[in-house]
Order: sequence, then structure tokens, then C-alpha cells
Amino acid sequence: MRDFSQDHRWLSLNTATVRRQGDLAAIVEACARHGIRAIDPWRDQVAAIGLDRAGRAIRDAGLELSGYCRGGMFVSDAAHRSDALDDNRRAVDEAKALGAPCIVLVAGGLPQYSRPGSAPSKDIAQARAQIDDAIAGMLDYARQAGLPLAIEPLHPAYAADRACVNTTKQALDICDRLDPARSGMLGVALDVYHIWWDPELMPQIARAGKDRLLAFHVCDWLVPTKDILNDRGMMGDGVIDIRSVRAAVEAQGFAGYSEIEIFSDDWWGKPIDEVLRTCIERHRTVV
Ligand code: ZN
Repeated sequence: MRDFSQDHRWLSLNTATVRRQGDLAAIVEACARHGIRAIDPWRDQVAAIGLDRAGRAIRDAGLELSGYCRGGMFVSDAAHRSDALDDNRRAVDEAKALGAPCIVLVAGGLPQYSRPGSAPSKDIAQARAQIDDAIAGMLDYARQAGLPLAIEPLHPAYAADRACVNTTKQALDICDRLDPARSGMLGVALDVYHIWWDPELMPQIARAGKDRLLAFHVCDWLVPTKDILNDRGMMGDGVIDIRSVRAAVEAQGFAGYSEIEIFSDDWWGKPIDEVLRTCIERHRTVV
């Protein structure tokens, strides 16, 4: 297992962590100031300053990407299906232009939440079937672009509105069905916030192996959690044994960035330099 205690060369910042403190250009500058080497930007943050300017800012600062957030939200009614397809193709093109190593997929929940305006449904089995089909289609496009897709399983509390891919096993089952050859083009983004509770986590990480482990996200689970979306904890402030999960993915050969992704009204209210200093300190001591 890599030693993170001496430096933060394997820290990547998911830019949503400081999305309220400044635009992407300001976040890139702050990362450079703190010696952070990589980020995972969100599409809306890129769009806000323009794709060209975002790419230039990232390159000028010498930053790498650990992913691109995000593709997905595949579930819709028939009328919105082509929107979902076009939107995901654009996400692939943007990720390619920015030099991302993979695109993170949040698969979508029920159609009315996944693609607003869609006719409401309670058929979660149908939603899951649609996700399989949509990822299969997107995979063809992503292969041509040489851009791997990383399915992020989300905690079951998000099954209705964000993703009904809820366990590592379920995500890996999709990978095995759609990419049985383990081509390296389809895998998972494992976020400790979503998967720490799963009794099958360790055997599933072993099953994933190096070629399916495309991204690793960290934060913490606070007790009590006041808001399931926007009350994620800073690493070390909650109950997740982050280091044991990192040890498990690294035992499979994962050697990428440990990406900090914290959606938190609390941390969004603090100055960016304080947030980044704390991220670096916790990365060294508890990640
Ligand atoms: Zn994540």
C-alpha cells in the first residue's frame, strides 16, 4: 500500500468539493497554489467558463485529470431517450478534449428524476434494464474515442433520483455482461461514501481487479447524516475505515489518484484555502 503520509502527490480534487467558493479557473489556481496535481471537474463547471478556457487553464497549471463528472442519467421515457444519448456523447467528447482518463457514470434512477419531464414510473427493473442498454450503446461510442467508462455505484438511498446501480456487485455484473473480455474500457468508480457499508465490498473489489478499478473517491460518512446529498464528511470526521478500502483497491493494483469528493453545505461555507489545507492534511493522516 502506498505511503501517503509524506506528500500529497496522489491527491486529486473533485471540483464539486469547492464549487461554491469559485469558478473552475479559480479552483485550478487554488490547486496549483497548494501543490495539488490532479482534479476531476464537473461538466457544469467546465461549461460555465467554456471548454476551451477550461482546457487551457488545466494545461497551463500542469494539472492532470482523475476523471470527468459526469455521464449517465440514462433512464428516461421514450421521448427523452435521444436527449440522453446526445448528452452522453457530448460528455465523451468533452472528456476527450480535456484529456480525462475516464468518464464517471451516474446511471440514473426512475425516469422522472433521471431525465426531468419524462413520464413518471415506479418500474425500477425497467430502469435497470434501460441502463444496461444505454451503457452498451455509449460503450461503442466511448471505444472509438478511446475513453473508458467508470460506473459509480451509489448508496441505495439514491436509487430513485440518481442511480439504481447500488452495489459494487451490481456495477461489476454490468461490466461483465457488456465487456466480458475486460478490455479496460468499462469499469467502476468506487466512492467510499456509497460502498463502505456493503458486506460484500471486499470480495467484490477482488473480483474487480486492476482492469475494472478506474477511479477511487474518498470522503466520510457522518453520524448523524443530516442531508443524504449535501452532508458528506471530511475524511476522518466520520465512520468509514477509508484506509482499509484503499488497501483493498491497491492490493488489486490500483495506482491512480485518491480523489476527494465532498458535497457539504458545511465545507462549501469555508474559504477555499482552508478546505484545501484540510484535505491535504487528512489525505496524509487518514486516507
Ligand atoms: Zn464519487
